Amino acid sequence: MIDPDVLSLPFDEYLARVAALTDDLLIPSEEEMVRTGEVPPRVMDALAANGLFAVSIPREYGGLGWSMSRQTALTMEFTRASCVYRSRFSTVIGLCSQGILDHGTERQRRELLPRMAAGELVTAFALTEPEAGSDAGALETTAAPAGGGWVLNGRKRYITNAHWADLLVVFARSDPGSSGTDGVSAFLVERTAPGVTTRVPELMNGHAEGPVAEIDLAGVAVGGDALVGDEPGRGFAMALRGINHARLHVAATCIGQATRMLEETARHVNGRHQFGAALGELGAVQAELGRCFSELEAGRALTLEAARAFDGGEVPRHRIAAAKLYCSEMASRVGDRCVQLLGGAGIVGPHPVPRMWRDVRALRIYEGSSPIHERNLGRAVTRRVARDGVLPDTYRATRPNAAL
Ligand SMILES: Cc1cc2nc3c(=O)[nH]c(=O)nc-3n(C[C@H](O)[C@H](O)[C@H](O)COP(=O)(O)OP(=O)(O)OC[C@H]3O[C@@H](n4cnc5c(N)ncnc54)[C@H](O)[C@@H]3O)c2cc1C
Repeated sequence: MIDPDVLSLPFDEYLARVAALTDDLLIPSEEEMVRTGEVPPRVMDALAANGLFAVSIPREYGGLGWSMSRQTALTMEFTRASCVYRSRFSTVIGLCSQGILDHGTERQRRELLPRMAAGELVTAFALTEPEAGSDAGALETTAAPAGGGWVLNGRKRYITNAHWADLLVVFARSDPGSSGTDGVSAFLVERTAPGVTTRVPELMNGHAEGPVAEIDLAGVAVGGDALVGDEPGRGFAMALRGINHARLHVAATCIGQATRMLEETARHVNGRHQFGAALGELGAVQAELGRCFSELEAGRALTLEAARAFDGGEVPRHRIAAAKLYCSEMASRVGDRCVQLLGGAGIVGPHPVPRMWRDVRALRIYEGSSPIHERNLGRAVTRRVARDGVLPDTYRATRPNAAL
C-alpha cells in the first residue's frame, strides 16, 4: 500500500524521498539480496509504500501520474541501486499498466490499475516464446473461443516476474488464420489458474536475484472478460504501447547503473595506490574516466530529450529506440572499463561494479536487442528520407513540436 504522505508530495520532494530511499535502503540491502538470492520482503514493502509501482499510473486510477520526464528522472535516481529492484516493479509500471490504460476497458482500468499502483497486484508481460524472440510476431500460443470465454495453449519463456506475479498478461493468437503481428490478442490470466505452470531457470548470468521464468499454458480456460479491451486482434498495438514506455525506462536505468559504477570506481582509484601515487592521479586512468563520464552525460541528455518529446504528445518511437540502444551499449562499455580499473577486485570478491556490469549486459538484449534497434532505425532513416526528405522524429522549423 502507498504511504498516504507520498500521494501529496510535490515532485521535487518525491524525487528527494526516492533518492534517500536509494541511499538508505536499496544500496545497503544489496548484499543481503545477493546472499539470500532474492529482494528482501521488507524492501519490496518499502518499494510499494514509496509508490514505485505507481509512478506511471494516472492519479484517477490510484497512481502518481508523473510525466515521462519525471519518470525517467526518478528511474535514473533509484537505479543507482541494483537494477534487480527495478525489474520487480518494471513489468507493472511500464509494460502492463500502460497497455491496460490505453487498450483495456474502463472496467479493467478501474479494477486493476489501483491494485497495481499499490503494489498489491503484480503483473508479468508474457510475449516471448521459444520460437518467437526477436521475431515476436512468430508467436505460436493460441487462444480459441470456448463457451463465451477462451482456452489458451502454448509456452512462454524469459518472462520477468512470471514466477511470483499475480496476473500474467499473455499474448496469444486469437485468429487462427492470421500471421505475424495480426490476429494477436492480450489476455489476463491468473498465475495460479489450472493449466498454468511457471519455472525459473537453474542459472541466470546477471539479474540472478530477480530471475525470469518459463510459463506453460495447457488448456487454460479464461472468461470473456479476460480479453484486454473489447475486441480481439489488438494485442500487438497494446504490446507496443507498453514496450515504448518501458524502453525509455530501460535507457534511464542504464544512466543510473553507469552513474553508480563510475562513482564506485572513482572511489576505488582515489584510494588505491600503485607506483607511489593514487591510480586516480594517472593520466591514462583519468582519460578513461573522462570517456565514461562524457558518454554517460550524452546518454542522459538523449534520454531526457526523448522523454520531453514523449510528454509533447507524440510517442517519438525512433528517438526512444535510439536512447535505449545508445544507453544500453554505453552502460556496458562503462561497466567494462570500470571492471578494468578495479583490477583483480573487479573479478574477485563482492565489489558491486562487476555484479552491475553483469546485470546491465541483459539490457542490450531485452526490450529489443541492439542489432534489432540498429536495423529498425536504419530502415526508418532510409524510408523517411525517401518519403519526406527528413530524418524520423527530427524537430524541424517546418514541423513544430509541443516539447520545444
Ligand atoms: C533478463 C531478461 C528479461 C526479459 N523479460 C521479458 C519479459 O518480461 N517479457 C517478454 O515477453 N520477454 C522478456 N525477455 C525476452 C527478450 O525480449 C528476448 O530475449 C529478446 O527479444 C531476444 O529474443 P531471443 O532471446 O529469443 O533472441 P533471438 O531472437 O534468438 O536473437 C539472438 C540474437 O540474434 C541477433 N538477431 C536476431 N534477429 C536479428 C536481426 N533481424 N538482425 C540482426 N541481428 C539479429 C541479436 O543479436 C539477438 O540478440 C527477457 C529477456 C531477458 C534476457
